Amino acid sequence: MTTAHNEQRGVDGDVVIARYMGAESRPSWSDVTSAGVFTIEPGGRFDRHFHDCHEYWLVFQGRGVVLVGDEAFAVGPGDIVCTKTAVEHDVLAVAETFKAFWFEGATSPGGRIGHLHHTEEAAKGHGVLHVADPADFDLASYVAPA
Ligand SMILES: [Zn+2]
Repeated sequence: MTTAHNEQRGVDGDVVIARYMGAESRPSWSDVTSAGVFTIEPGGRFDRHFHDCHEYWLVFQGRGVVLVGDEAFAVGPGDIVCTKTAVEHDVLAVAETFKAFWFEGATSPGGRIGHLHHTEEAAKGHGVLHVADPADFDLASYVAPA
């Protein structure tokens, strides 16, 4: 049996199985800021952002190019992208439908929740390039589609 999107199953009123976890939908004992799955199609959109917590992406479908800090990495199924608090990260390109599980660790008291941006332009997001082979990606010549 699987869990439908946004549905939760629990025991004694507490969350045990979920498709998304956030402040109002995580186990009472958990300090996870949020967790779930995101999908990016070729030609889709994403936004360069950072968090007031550490974040991990476990890629499980598709290949792509991610930016962590000022370095680009070609990634594919099984790779875990580890991003430290306050470090900008982004998905620049995908070769096919790209799916990853994201997991945000604990946010310190007073920390902000969600995608945080250094500029209004970054908050608007950008097109994600469609590339044939992420290994050929060249960050030096990268220009984000509008
Ligand atoms: Zn993030």
